[in-house]
Amino acid sequence: MHVAIIGAGLAGLTCARQLQEQGNTVVVYEKSRAVSGRMSTRQNELGGFDHGAQYFTVTSPAFRKTVAQWTKAGLTAAWTPRLAVIDDGKVTAPSAVARRKQRWVAQPGMRSLGVHLAQELDVRTAQQVRSIERLGKQWLLYVQSETVPIDATAGPFDAVIVAAPADQAKALLAPLPKLARQAAHAPLAPCWTLMLAFPEGLGLPYDAAWVNGSRLGWIAQDASKPERRPGEHWIAQASAAWSTEHLEDDPERAKEKLLKAFHEATGTHVQPVFSAVHRWRYSQALQPLEGDCLWDPAAKVGACGDWFAAGLPGMGRIENAYLSGAALAARMA
Ligand SMILES: Cc1cc2nc3c(=O)[nH]c(=O)nc-3n(C[C@H](O)[C@H](O)[C@H](O)COP(=O)(O)OP(=O)(O)OC[C@H]3O[C@@H](n4cnc5c(N)ncnc54)[C@H](O)[C@@H]3O)c2cc1C
Repeated sequence: MHVAIIGAGLAGLTCARQLQEQGNTVVVYEKSRAVSGRMSTRQNELGGFDHGAQYFTVTSPAFRKTVAQWTKAGLTAAWTPRLAVIDDGKVTAPSAVARRKQRWVAQPGMRSLGVHLAQELDVRTAQQVRSIERLGKQWLLYVQSETVPIDATAGPFDAVIVAAPADQAKALLAPLPKLARQAAHAPLAPCWTLMLAFPEGLGLPYDAAWVNGSRLGWIAQDASKPERRPGEHWIAQASAAWSTEHLEDDPERAKEKLLKAFHEATGTHVQPVFSAVHRWRYSQALQPLEGDCLWDPAAKVGACGDWFAAGLPGMGRIENAYLSGAALAARMA
């Protein structure tokens, strides 16, 4: 089969690799200039900032097996930060359950895993799929790129996989109302994220902390992760409630407010030499859909991503994306 995959995050890349191994011809379309989606690392002259997903956990046997292979190949490694909870400025120890959990990261940045998985795949970056249209038993894609002023058609393809966050998937799945309706039931929370680099060590007794009673929900020292460049680089994520309330704020204003919250939470007043904010309109699925993917065998259109529970409890995360992408490829085989 000639298959188009829309989205080069972990779900789309996992699905693409398995479909290619099964003998299909696969083309991945990605609207950003880089692959890896929300497993993202921003690079500048000071080093990298994991400004999307922070780390991942492993619970299912299938993901455990894959992570063991990635780790053997040097793509991922365990991260064992000194953890804390900051409650109105007071630092306490997290629960034993939170402390015991094994956390994993890609190295040298969260983005590196997607970059590796995209090797040997035909991935077309900076190509946003605007819609899909039936052509007999096949599908055409309408694709917008930076270089061509009007949408170009791509295909025909025998099958189309939508591996984008649920809200974006819903629009692409419009020709299949049953699938589109399901995608409408998996909203993702937004997240404003602050990146900071300091000229000197802050001397904090933790590498990462959950923050309560603040605009922030989580802070982490990037350089405490394996294979990062040394330096005092911090990520500060706003809480889901604050991010939702301030979704349309001016970025400069959001940056100012989050920097103030960082100083309050950590009790430090050192000014950063670099600061930037990123607004994630979609960060994590609040209530992933039951099941592991969507697949319409007659139309040959499917969807995968972290917005499927794939047997896991809680919010959508990296493990969900992996399991969903793998499940869809297996279903198509
Ligand atoms: C701030 C933040 C913090 C997080 N923290 C954690 C964490 O600590 N642990 C954890 O496990 N998970 C975390 N997550 C969630 C985790 O990043 C996701 O669950 C996972 O990366 C989702 O992978 P995916 O492939 O389903 O989607 P994505 O990574 O979003 O990939 C979808 C891709 O589709 C592309 N796309 C969308 N529409 C189109 C289109 N029309 N045409 C072409 N391309 C398109 C997008 O650009 C994107 O690259 C976090 C996410 C964010 C944003």
